[in-house]
Amino acid sequence: MISECAQNISPFIVMEVLERAQQMERNGEHIIHLEVGEPDFDTPKKIVYAGRAALDRGETHYTHSLGIWQLREAIAQYYSKNYEINASPDQVIVTSGTSPALLLALSVILNPGNEVICANPSYACYKNFITYLKANANCVYVYEDDGFQYQPEEIKTKITSNSKAILINSPSNPTGNLLSPKVMEQIASLGPIVISDEIYHGLVYGDQAHSVLEFTSNAIVLNGFSKLFAMTGWRLGYLIVPPDLVRPIQKLQQNFFISPNAFVQWAGVTALTEQHPEIPAMVAIYDDRRKYMIKRLREIGFKISVEPTGAFYVFANAKKYSSNSYKFAFELLEHAKVAVTPGIDFGTNGEGFLRFSYANSLENIAIGMDRLAQYLKAR
Ligand code: PMP
Repeated sequence: MISECAQNISPFIVMEVLERAQQMERNGEHIIHLEVGEPDFDTPKKIVYAGRAALDRGETHYTHSLGIWQLREAIAQYYSKNYEINASPDQVIVTSGTSPALLLALSVILNPGNEVICANPSYACYKNFITYLKANANCVYVYEDDGFQYQPEEIKTKITSNSKAILINSPSNPTGNLLSPKVMEQIASLGPIVISDEIYHGLVYGDQAHSVLEFTSNAIVLNGFSKLFAMTGWRLGYLIVPPDLVRPIQKLQQNFFISPNAFVQWAGVTALTEQHPEIPAMVAIYDDRRKYMIKRLREIGFKISVEPTGAFYVFANAKKYSSNSYKFAFELLEHAKVAVTPGIDFGTNGEGFLRFSYANSLENIAIGMDRLAQYLKAR
């Protein structure tokens, strides 16, 4: 009954931890959630009003398959201004989240048997989508001691005639680290098109994220509103692609999704074109939590070689406690009542690590850290 593609796709383990935690909560237990990568903040007010106003105006129909022109223009201007580049609205395709953007990008370039170079560890869905399309993720290991930096030399050794793209994600999920501009420049010069997932841009602390478009036009940018604008439930994202990819992606979008959500796109215009005091406030709060969490995790005994300066994750070495991160994460959930994501969710080289999300209040993070300290001391 079930297709091979569907059978072979791996579960998204973080969701399995979350679902078990929710089951425990239904049984009356109190769980501290440090597993999910979702802002705990509400969407800034002006964006909510814009979405509501669009609904009231009757923006409830299909839109152009590439997205409304006003949003494509706003995205191009946002990129042009933030990164001092020249992005054209003609190269922008609006999607219902970054996940569909990733699916479209990979679908448009991959034939069965092709390869995409990915970091190991990296975001779980990269490998799962690539495998779903009958292509292969060709993994390059990245290591904690240099802040999980991709080594361009390593990438070079992996490139074959089958390599269609190099996937990068800075700031990274799960490591929270950023690629240096020098490394990005070197990756951009290697040859294959670079797919750059820039969804955590803006969530950086004392560092600066660079767009791949600063280094090459042979690139596909993926981005979305879920993280920086705290809009996970709205489902809005986009691609910026070389002109010759627009039409092929448009055909896929027309068939798969018809168009992105109408009223949500209008909220997206407001997100990009107006000022939102909530956003710098959120970034400052994330930064406080980041510092606190790093300090507490280190005190407990987790190893963090290079402090993460982006996204809202700490990827901590837990090998001292267990070499099986899956079992260890569920052990912490059952006994310490703290939900965390096992490193194995992000690739074999993430084994022995745990990903802690600080998209939760300082108060809850403190309770979580106390629980972990107490449980691990007595273990
Ligand atoms: N890329 C990365 C690296 C992510 O962490 C996420 C969300 N967890 C996504 C893409 C997908 O985000 P969305 O579909 O909500 O835009």
